Amino acid sequence: MHIDLHTHSVASDGTDTPAQVIADAARAGLDVVALTDHDTTAGWDEAARSAAEVGITLVRGTEISTRSRGISVHMLSYLHDPADPDLAERNEVARTAREQRARTMVELLSRDYAVTWDDVVAQTVPGTVIGRPHVADALAAGGFVADRSEAFARVLTSDSRYYVPHLAPNTLDVVRAILSAGGVPVFAHPGADQRGRVVPDETIAELAAAGLAGLEVAHRDNSPEQRERLTRLAKELGLFTTGSSDYHGSGKPNRLGENVTDPEVFEEIEARGRLAVLRP
Ligand code: AMP
Ligand code: FE
Ligand code: FE
Ligand code: ZN
Repeated sequence: MHIDLHTHSVASDGTDTPAQVIADAARAGLDVVALTDHDTTAGWDEAARSAAEVGITLVRGTEISTRSRGISVHMLSYLHDPADPDLAERNEVARTAREQRARTMVELLSRDYAVTWDDVVAQTVPGTVIGRPHVADALAAGGFVADRSEAFARVLTSDSRYYVPHLAPNTLDVVRAILSAGGVPVFAHPGADQRGRVVPDETIAELAAAGLAGLEVAHRDNSPEQRERLTRLAKELGLFTTGSSDYHGSGKPNRLGENVTDPEVFEEIEARGRLAVLRP
């Protein structure tokens, strides 16, 4: 069984439609795939139809941006009730704030680059959760950078004068909200220290005590040293570990199925989640 539990579509900052992500996952030989767009469940229905068509098992999820003592933490939630008022409201607030923040970044950029908000919107489809990647795409479309990666490396770094942080709720609160919505919380790429500071062991212990279920250990942004540390921590704290691609289409080099999750862990996620896993 090949199981990839972290992918993005045009509902957030992937470049493929949900149907394309699912069809490509089947073509890549995956048996189970999770769609986990940032702060939204907008891609779920299309993904579910596509999964039934191409004969692949779908796990519905969301990746929620949070912050813990100033450190960015991405929290995956699997199989939560999308209608849970608290979680739905939190994601709605996050999406609105993200748009405001992206508009501010475009204002700052427009002093030095000929980019407008319309240029950014032109890089999205209706309903896309607009983030820095779409601002990057607008810069690429304007010929100011070659691609998304160059925009992130040269213009949109978090220490650049165009960068504006986005609103991010407290990690512990989000873990609790995910649990009350029947979701299974898994810490995404917890050792991605190239992107910025990562949380210390004590924070992960604190999250585990609050009900965190797992750590995404096999992810290309976790170095071998980090993976070793996270594997040890997971054992100590009784957390399961997952592996995933964090596929973003052509927006990132990550390939579907480049990291995978053990079937036993998938079964545990299914047993713990409120929503059903969708089998063809
Ligand atoms: P934001 O949350 O809007 O600040 O944007 C961060 C998102 O951009 C992350 O979730 C990644 O998916 C994406 N991202 C980060 N670094 C890069 C990069 N170097 N190239 C492409 N996408 C990136
Ligand atoms: Fe992303
Ligand atoms: Fe992430
Ligand atoms: Zn992701």
